[in-house]
Amino acid sequence: MAFILSGDDVCQATLPTPIPDPYWVAFSPSSAKLVGITLDEANLPLDKTWLEVLAGNQLRVTSHQFLNPIATAYSGHQFGVWAGQLGDGRAILLGDIADQELQLKGAGKTRFSRMGDGRAVLRSSIREFLCSEAMHSLGIPTTRALSIVGSDLPVRRETMETAAVCARLAPSFIRIGHFEHFAALQNHARLKELADSLIQNHYPESLEAEEPYLDLFKRICKRNAKLVAQWQAVGFCHGVLNSDNISALGLTIDYGPFGFLDQFQIDHICNHSDQGGRYAYHRQPQIMHWNMACLASAMIPLIELRCDEKEAQEQLRAAIEEFPIIYAQSWQSLFRKKLGFVTEQDGDITLVERLLQAMHDSRVDFTSFFRKLGQLKTDAPIEQISLRNEFVDRASIDQWFSDYQARLQSESSSDSSRQKEMNQVNPKYVLRNHLAQQAIEQAQKKDFSEVTKLLNILSKPFDEQPEHESYAMAPPPNLESIEVSCSS
Ligand code: AMP
Ligand code: MG
Repeated sequence: MAFILSGDDVCQATLPTPIPDPYWVAFSPSSAKLVGITLDEANLPLDKTWLEVLAGNQLRVTSHQFLNPIATAYSGHQFGVWAGQLGDGRAILLGDIADQELQLKGAGKTRFSRMGDGRAVLRSSIREFLCSEAMHSLGIPTTRALSIVGSDLPVRRETMETAAVCARLAPSFIRIGHFEHFAALQNHARLKELADSLIQNHYPESLEAEEPYLDLFKRICKRNAKLVAQWQAVGFCHGVLNSDNISALGLTIDYGPFGFLDQFQIDHICNHSDQGGRYAYHRQPQIMHWNMACLASAMIPLIELRCDEKEAQEQLRAAIEEFPIIYAQSWQSLFRKKLGFVTEQDGDITLVERLLQAMHDSRVDFTSFFRKLGQLKTDAPIEQISLRNEFVDRASIDQWFSDYQARLQSESSSDSSRQKEMNQVNPKYVLRNHLAQQAIEQAQKKDFSEVTKLLNILSKPFDEQPEHESYAMAPPPNLESIEVSCSS
């Protein structure tokens, strides 16, 4: 639902700045279905005005009326430090379509652009578009991407690049940073309006609770705890987990220098600009917890409406202590499934941890290892398990395989049914950096076919797709260490 709060301090009426000679770069048929856009045989909107609308060049489509496009104010902590007001510096909310909000990213300057140009480049728009849709197909909550419209308009980053506008969809783009914004301004009336509208539109269950605001907080925490467990289970690193990049709906939002792990390295840093490794893979759960603490601080005035200050802090403290418990339960359940366990047994988690340590020590490819693990036969002689060749310390991994086989034998599932189950949770295809890079480099030469091809492959990440086997492979050594920074 479109941002409920009105008033110039929060929602600034903002018109997109047109781009010259827009052209389609990519379009997601699955997102089109979500919002009821009819497509032609080329999988592009039948109604040609959509190109102008999604470029930010026109505000009306026949029979779709977008009223009052806005940019919203939010604040946040960046790299652990309070950054004050940020806001939609290059995202403009056009309005609602079906039950989604439609936002254009890179549609020009807003009141919140600060030093920025309000634009996004083709490279980063392709990454956001592909990853949003890939995450959705992996079953991970995320904002969606509808389209990329390109233009030859030059945009300066480290080098000169060209502009693109990515259309995003979400039931709401409200972030933790929106709460922090009003809390910092001590504008408790606005804070309350924000929480009330979020409850009314997205968390109606909280209305039933004795303490609706506390309940809202717990639900936001729960969704984000489960979200980060899902990231860990597919080897996804977000890259910039600042509190303004954390959704109040528990969606993955703001795809920047993200990365899927190729070789498993527990402390992998995907963002070249993150020198201290604050957002490294193994720190994501802890950082999400930290962000929930920021939300808790921002929500204190709301909890205090029903009790005194000390009690409010106590209630929030107790609620936030649930985060690691929910996270651990989700993580354990996901990794049990990744290993094909049907029952819960003592020692399962030790087995998972021993495996991850061994994978880290030998830098084993995360995605393909788990996918291939499904093919293991419970009675195969250890020397015949080809996956053991991925590890340097054979004696130790042989012991692990032997313990794993014994663990599987203690359950009644057959090898074939287990493989089927494991293939539903261990994807074969993820958006590896080198694949995105290949699509970007072609697109920069005006050939967008690889973007569409990747979109299609990644829309069925759990299917075998033998004709696309090379897309499941680890990157060749020369493409292993593509560096991605905040520049977008
Ligand atoms: P990010 O690190 O992409 O989440 O962005 C942090 C803040 O900077 C947000 O308020 C963005 O809207 C803003 N921002 C990032 N890039 C630009 C840009 N090119 N022009 C204007 N604002 C931007
Ligand atoms: Mg952001």
